[in-house]
Amino acid sequence: MYRSHTCGELRASDINTDVTLSGWVHKSRDKGFVIWIDLRDRYGIIQLVFDEERTEAELLEKARSLGREFVIQVKGKVIERTSKNPNILTGDIEVLVQELVVLNQSLVPPFTLDDTTDGGDDLRMKYRYLDIRRRPVKNNLIFRSKVSMEVRKYLTNEGFIEVETPYLIKSTPEGARDFVVPSRMNEGQFYALPQSPQTFKQLLMVGGLDKYFQIVKCFRDEDLRADRQPEFTQIDCEMAFVEQEDILQVFEGLTRHLLMEINQKEVGPFPRLTYDDAMEKYGNDKPDIRFGMEFAELTNIAQHRDFAIFNSAEIVVGIAIPGGASYTRKEIDKLIDWIRRPQIGAKGMVYVKCNEDGSFKSSVDKFYNQEDLSTWAEKSSAKAGDLICILSGSIHETRSQLSALRMEMAERLGLRNPDHFAPLWVIDFPLLELDEESGNYHAMHHPFTSPKPGQLSLLETDPSAVRANAYDLVLNGNEIGGGSIRIHDKETQQIMFKHLGFTPEEAKAQFGFLLDAFQYGAPPHGGIAFGLDRLVAILGGQETIRDFIAFPKNNSGRDVMIDAPSLLDPEQLKELHLRIET
Ligand code: ASP
Repeated sequence: MYRSHTCGELRASDINTDVTLSGWVHKSRDKGFVIWIDLRDRYGIIQLVFDEERTEAELLEKARSLGREFVIQVKGKVIERTSKNPNILTGDIEVLVQELVVLNQSLVPPFTLDDTTDGGDDLRMKYRYLDIRRRPVKNNLIFRSKVSMEVRKYLTNEGFIEVETPYLIKSTPEGARDFVVPSRMNEGQFYALPQSPQTFKQLLMVGGLDKYFQIVKCFRDEDLRADRQPEFTQIDCEMAFVEQEDILQVFEGLTRHLLMEINQKEVGPFPRLTYDDAMEKYGNDKPDIRFGMEFAELTNIAQHRDFAIFNSAEIVVGIAIPGGASYTRKEIDKLIDWIRRPQIGAKGMVYVKCNEDGSFKSSVDKFYNQEDLSTWAEKSSAKAGDLICILSGSIHETRSQLSALRMEMAERLGLRNPDHFAPLWVIDFPLLELDEESGNYHAMHHPFTSPKPGQLSLLETDPSAVRANAYDLVLNGNEIGGGSIRIHDKETQQIMFKHLGFTPEEAKAQFGFLLDAFQYGAPPHGGIAFGLDRLVAILGGQETIRDFIAFPKNNSGRDVMIDAPSLLDPEQLKELHLRIET
């Protein structure tokens, strides 16, 4: 038996107990006549003591030779500590060691394994197995497991069954590139790894399974913008005989269950915002509603003077920054520089200071009088002491620039409290979006999403006006889930494919199996998928998903620990009928 107890569980009530413990040498302090060793395992840290008076000389020497991260087993007695450590749960006691076995030695780790480490990201990733020994990383993985278990518990209680779907498949269109796998047995042919199990879960509904879920890996070969992973995990769900309302109820329930069980937070009914309203109020389809600073559209009221920049703009829109009237000229200039950075791309910013005495001071005083400015302040719910920041230009760009400013200011003002959870549904998304470059329409969600009832014919006349039975679940400024009610008949699906630019032959070649299935009594169905990595990070009060993934990839999609991707040897290439041309 390697251990009778773990390193985290012994307390004062265990004094005088004989114990066997196993773990890693976290730290050792050698005072000559006495040696203390912090022994660590997954459950905690316990102090071992060896001293001249009570320990045999040979054992004392052996203890002295232990290096950091050696794996050891000790037998000894729990005794009371003379100087207690209130910072650890085992801090009232220590173990007086009588026997010591070195189970394995260790090289000196390349970084310290404390809560805060001197190891940089690259080093930590290369030695991720050591990083995982650190308490914060270990705790994140335990936290993730707890969230997954709660998801399974809730969904299983609701009658969902977990079904696995294949990884070696054919392309599924979630808007990214596929990772592909060459087939040795089928020369020149490739599998694609699923961007999601979308078509399979729909086929499970045709198969009559009615309520499906799966905690599943998805693969998308995208340029890795900040905090994305090429493989990530979804809580993937689908239900048959449901309307949008049924789905929203079940998954609002799941989210509420998680917030309660994981964070002990009770949240009321989730607000619902249409996509159009979200864009108008927050310039963003995943608004953070933990704080106000809602957009005020000033277009009509600001275009009556001689200010050419506003007059030529498609939209003039502002937000009130609480307490911003006290910003100095220099601080405001800095803010303008910030918003003009290429990543944001605004050309400039108009501002109005709402002074405490009720007067206004703006950067456009030449064009607007106090009465004008007072109307703007009213429209943007600015109070005395606030700063109104106003941007103008084309609708889409201006809103997205102002949204970036809103988030930045909330961050600076400490309004994005990670312990405050503000979920909402965004509904009624456009069915299609125009790709400015190619001039083609793409499915905003995916090609299997149904249009709102009665809007199918609009596809011919005004495609961008068609709204979808699609919804996103947004939490604290992040899209944590998205789904839709699907098309479930062949004809509608074919019309959709046509509008997305597929010829009938292409549609048949790529999705013939689904179109076929729809001819055999496909029930009405719909579903949703949550991004588990992000959900866990948010519930854990952190922003980066990498911290909650055991073995993440870096920003270039590499696993630096196992050194993947890597070259294949010529034999293997030949077997796969592949030739590399450089
Ligand atoms: N397959 C979709 C996605 O990955 C989710 C869904 O529509 O259920 O975003």
